[in-house]
Amino acid sequence: MSDGELAIPFRQRAGSAMKDAFLQEALTIATTKFIDLRREAFEDFPEGEALRDRARAIKEATLQRLDHYLETLIANIERLGGHVHYAKTSEEARAIIVDIARRTGARMAVKSKSMATEEIHLNEALEHAGITPVETDLGEYIIQLAHERPSHIIAPAIHKTKGQVADLFGREFKRRVEADPEVLTKIARDELREKFLQADLGITGANFAVADTGTVVLVTNEGNGRMVTSLPRVHVAVMGVEKVVPSLTDLMVFLAILAKSATGQKLSVYTTLVRGPRRAAELEGPDEFHLVLLDNGRIAQLGGPLREALSCLRCGACLNVCPVYRQIGGHAYGYTYPGPIGILLTAMLEGSRAVKDLAHASSLCGACADACPVRIDIPRMLIELRREVDEKKIAPWVERVAFTLLARLLTRPALYRLAASAGRVLQRPFAREGTISRLPFFLNDWTRTRDLPAVAARTFQERWAAEQGRTR
Ligand code: SF4
Repeated sequence: MSDGELAIPFRQRAGSAMKDAFLQEALTIATTKFIDLRREAFEDFPEGEALRDRARAIKEATLQRLDHYLETLIANIERLGGHVHYAKTSEEARAIIVDIARRTGARMAVKSKSMATEEIHLNEALEHAGITPVETDLGEYIIQLAHERPSHIIAPAIHKTKGQVADLFGREFKRRVEADPEVLTKIARDELREKFLQADLGITGANFAVADTGTVVLVTNEGNGRMVTSLPRVHVAVMGVEKVVPSLTDLMVFLAILAKSATGQKLSVYTTLVRGPRRAAELEGPDEFHLVLLDNGRIAQLGGPLREALSCLRCGACLNVCPVYRQIGGHAYGYTYPGPIGILLTAMLEGSRAVKDLAHASSLCGACADACPVRIDIPRMLIELRREVDEKKIAPWVERVAFTLLARLLTRPALYRLAASAGRVLQRPFAREGTISRLPFFLNDWTRTRDLPAVAARTFQERWAAEQGRTR
């Protein structure tokens, strides 16, 4: 999202999203489908729960010795003839990739879906350097044509209906296009085929990298990932440092739960294992292979409050089940990573000031933690973030004063009882049959989209005291 769009308050962005009928339709259909498919996949997979625990344990053990596993990975990739680069920031990552493109004389880069390259805003940097980036994942291709950003971690164009995509293709290719997924896919395929052959540079993300063997792993559902890694002369993979896994045995654990959590598949259609550039006897593959290891705030969180978020597999399951994401979609969050995990990743990448409003965009219902294949306790970290926002005085003063007063009220029983009695009197003009449907002035925000329960005629404590008196 541009700085201008970010200047619009989160509440307003969310409000606009909730009024967008197309978005609501697209989100409901897609997220409901993902939820059902995920549930069915795990119902048919009794080992699933144990594997989720195992995956979490592997992640924790890897983070404990991240330096060791990264060193092993680097040594093995270099042994295979590849090059490894370390980028501390997005700027460094962009500079490394642009430099590789310039040195190799690349004019066009084909890309497979990668949130890491979205995170570093790579396409803009490539365009600025005179290199044309072409997204080849269908969803990414759609949003590139629409000049938008992904709104979901695994389904970038989830916010679009097939009718909207047909209109977009119709405008772009100047012809009438039927709103049929097969027709739309064929058009994209025909348009992209030539690009694979023309491109000098292939850019991908990486779902995992296996330290023991120097293998970079891509998990996709479209054949484009394989074309991107094998047809251009140069392949660059961009990966967060936390994606390293110790061994192929560990990799199997993650592969067994990743696709089930993301799309309900037993396994994604393509699991591509890349081991350096093409070797002498091989017919396919790039002349050069580069892995860019992206830090961008991750290493600092190894000892920080958001450490658990470093275990994220980017499966998107927490987005699909989140009642907030399901209402507002990904763009309203305003940053690269949407949904509950996106709030944590945004805090990691941009600092807690960036999430002063987003930290509250959660009902803390716990559905995200239940769905997460590595059992990341997202609600706990969101509460931590809220505390930090408060402690650093990032929240507006009105909000801080209101919550300070509320905290005093809730921690002083006598004051609480007094407030309950006062509330009973003050609510009289607004309470009907135990419910308050509308409050006046600025308090109306609390009742605009839901009813509040009225203060009870007698509090639990009052009833309890009366009961005790009766039984004595
Ligand atoms: S936090 Fe868990 S559920 Fe959400 S994207 Fe990451 S791995 Fe998936």
